[in-house]
Amino acid sequence: MPPEAPPPPLRLTLDLDALVANWRALDALSGTASAGAAVKADAYGLGARRVAMALRGAGCSDFFVAHWSEAVDLLDVLPAGNIAVLHGPQNPADAVFARDNGLRPVINSLHQARIWQEAGGGVCDLMVDTGINRLGLPLADLSDPVITGLQVDVLHSHLASADEDVPQNEAQRLRWLEAQGLVQHRRASLANSAGIALGSAYHGQLTRPGIALYGGVPSAALAGQIKQVAQPEAQVIQTRELEAGDQIGYNATFTAAEPMRVGVVSLGYADGYLRCWSGKGAMLADGLRLPVLGRVSMDMTVIDLSHAPQVGEGDWLALDYDLPAASALTGLSQYELLTSLGRRFPR
Ligand SMILES: *Cc1c(COP(=O)(O)O)cnc(C)c1O
Repeated sequence: MPPEAPPPPLRLTLDLDALVANWRALDALSGTASAGAAVKADAYGLGARRVAMALRGAGCSDFFVAHWSEAVDLLDVLPAGNIAVLHGPQNPADAVFARDNGLRPVINSLHQARIWQEAGGGVCDLMVDTGINRLGLPLADLSDPVITGLQVDVLHSHLASADEDVPQNEAQRLRWLEAQGLVQHRRASLANSAGIALGSAYHGQLTRPGIALYGGVPSAALAGQIKQVAQPEAQVIQTRELEAGDQIGYNATFTAAEPMRVGVVSLGYADGYLRCWSGKGAMLADGLRLPVLGRVSMDMTVIDLSHAPQVGEGDWLALDYDLPAASALTGLSQYELLTSLGRRFPR
């Protein structure tokens, strides 16, 4: 047995009450439809197991992952039949795996439908492409006997521009309605987080929010209804006093104009705090904003402690990680801000 390491200088606090409140808000906004949860990519980097357990406890019963390995991580915390795998079966082994473990594949093509049927079939979901041209069958394929023979639980499509007020949304919705007339199914689903805000005509029987569960606000209509969930924190590992003219970090992009106190925080681009935060980001302590000085490096970021004499080595600081504001500041999407948080944050 390797020794247990001392605790890391990074933590990722999850407000599970806020997560559940966001799911309830999205479920209520989904009207007569139920809200599921996209928990792919380790629940957008926040830890799929703890997210799934909390949402299951709140009453969520449809969970979406992209890869088979992501479904495996959830098998002991969710009923297998509540997990749908968005990428579907790429080969017969995937289909056998899904059947053996009771997982629901999302069928995305005639090829995948054949693989599923040849493995013995069973309940599955079906993804129809209505204009995003990513995964999914074109409407013209839906009358193929290999499709009409499927046992479809959820008939899905996915919106390309739900976060914008554009005619593409209505065009996709009409194709999704048309698809519903062509394939027998139990439930229909179209809306991601932003799609929920487009109104009841977009809801079907099931919605598939992801980013808004985790504190993202993908459309103005959701502002004020979504709470921050993820709070990354990092420890100060050294403080120093600078003289006027001293410079900070790689390429000396910051020069002290006067004597000042700074802190070195154990957080860098290897942790997902990318270089675009250089000279822009801030850490928070007791309501004070402590600006990032100079370049973010791989494992360290330097911050201004001139106005925070109480902050010292070993103290924990919160990153200013309100997703809409952080996205506007850095140019990273709210999705990237969450999914890029590195593996040194314990989940
Ligand atoms: C990721 C994903 C979602 C969730 O989208 P958000 O914009 O995060 O709400 C919904 N449906 C599908 C098919 C997805 O791939």
